[in-house]
Amino acid sequence: MSTRAACSPPSFTISCQGCGEAVPRRPWTWKHSCGLPLDVAVHVDKDRIVACRGGDAGGLKRFAPVLPLANLPDTAIGDTPILTEEIEGVRVSFKLEYLNPGGSFKDRGAYVAVARCAEMGFDSIVVDSSGNAGIAMARMGLRLGIGVDVFLPEWTPDGKKRLLRLLGARLHECTGDRMAVHTAALEASGEGAAYVGHWWNPYFAHGVKTMAYEAVEQMPTVDYVVAPVGAGTVLLGLHTGFSELAAAGLLPKMPRLIAAQAAGFAPVCAELGVTRPNAEKSLLADGIAIVDPPRRQQIAGAVRETHGFVVVVEDVEISHALKSLVAMGYIVEPTSAVAFAATLTAIRDGRIPKDSSVLVPLTGTGMKVLEELTEVVSD
Ligand SMILES: [Zn+2]
Repeated sequence: MSTRAACSPPSFTISCQGCGEAVPRRPWTWKHSCGLPLDVAVHVDKDRIVACRGGDAGGLKRFAPVLPLANLPDTAIGDTPILTEEIEGVRVSFKLEYLNPGGSFKDRGAYVAVARCAEMGFDSIVVDSSGNAGIAMARMGLRLGIGVDVFLPEWTPDGKKRLLRLLGARLHECTGDRMAVHTAALEASGEGAAYVGHWWNPYFAHGVKTMAYEAVEQMPTVDYVVAPVGAGTVLLGLHTGFSELAAAGLLPKMPRLIAAQAAGFAPVCAELGVTRPNAEKSLLADGIAIVDPPRRQQIAGAVRETHGFVVVVEDVEISHALKSLVAMGYIVEPTSAVAFAATLTAIRDGRIPKDSSVLVPLTGTGMKVLEELTEVVSD
């Protein structure tokens, strides 16, 4: 293929991850009629991946040959540094995703999901996250001139509401649980406004996959990847990226994916048939405290396919890992420490052997939750 061909937008298809049925790109659907999530498959090959390297474009814009978008907006998202620390005989490479402009890896997913909505002609989107995803979507909406309606529980901390308002989001506070918030968001979406909840959005993973593309340029080998798993967007995005690289023959070996879950919120364990003693529910890992994520089977499938495993950590381990990270100078939110806590556990029980090279994305900034952070660290 010529360089010119490799630089044109890639073709892509959308199908149901459960029943496999193909669905058209238009009209916008966020869920298959059978009730399961949809996936976007982008047709990527070696030429397209090589075309992403070098060049003048910065941030995610350089990944135009492998992203399901016709036009990529300018952005400072991506290009996050990696720092490798020698920890108990293992090379642990932290990818500083919390340095993205909105403070988390979710900027990557929001970039593709919101830009795709713009291409489809939507001038407003509806989301039901008050956390990092809501902030990332609001920020992208602001950049692209798309109105963002955020549905959130009324008990959402004031600081998050203020940040969302600062980014121009319209806030809708709902009574009831997370499901009630989801239902209200769906009712508000429709013809002019697309629902882009990140648990379901099929474009989101393609933004997140760029993390894997960057990591293979930054690390000579990746033996293991440890990702915090709630809805699974980090793990599934990385799985998409590494799978595309492997299929193109650009990866010496597929890394093993380790799902790091918080005690009390470990549906991937159940999906993989791993039983573990009852533990107290985590209060620290609020970013991944999800009992029934819609993509749970897909997450378990990615772990199984790469011969990975799941590690469940308790708050005492998360708190210890967070203190270590802050002591090393990484100012991250408690949820981000789950992956490092799981890494330490797997090193100590021998499941990650000495001399391995491990990629650990540090997903979200601690700056948004300073009060909580200082409470845990000074405890
Ligand atoms: Zn289906």
